[in-house]
Amino acid sequence: MKRKINEIVIHCSATEYGNRSLFKRWHRKLGWDDVGYHFIILNSYPQKKIWDNKTPDFSSDGKVVKGRPVEKAGAHVRLHNDNTIGICLVGDRTFTGRQFGSLKKLVKKLQAQYKINSVKGHYEFDTAIEQGKTCPNIDMDRLRKLLSVSG
Ligand SMILES: [Zn+2]
Repeated sequence: MKRKINEIVIHCSATEYGNRSLFKRWHRKLGWDDVGYHFIILNSYPQKKIWDNKTPDFSSDGKVVKGRPVEKAGAHVRLHNDNTIGICLVGDRTFTGRQFGSLKKLVKKLQAQYKINSVKGHYEFDTAIEQGKTCPNIDMDRLRKLLSVSG
């Protein structure tokens, strides 16, 4: 059965580096069978080694990587996975202009494809408030203005 999608949820990795395989490994440790996000938007540090060595890979900045297939419910926002698509920006408090540019394009595409109006940050969900989450560490009203979307 096709799932009904009506909301996009923005996350951050809360790490300075990362990529699909790293998050998949972490998420598998949580007992999930695949990475919890549907899309990951990389910065210049796809691997820890690159971060540690201070040798950014500029070509990976802003790259959109597919995570869990959109047809499958993700594992990214407690009790709200059935009807949402999860997008993760790699970073903790700082993100690049290229990441925001890619996010804007991706959100626009998904909105058109799945007829989605609502774009929210993880921290705006009731379950995230209970968990004290601040993810994606970006003021969502400000981000929605950039993305030209509603909440
Ligand atoms: Zn999150």
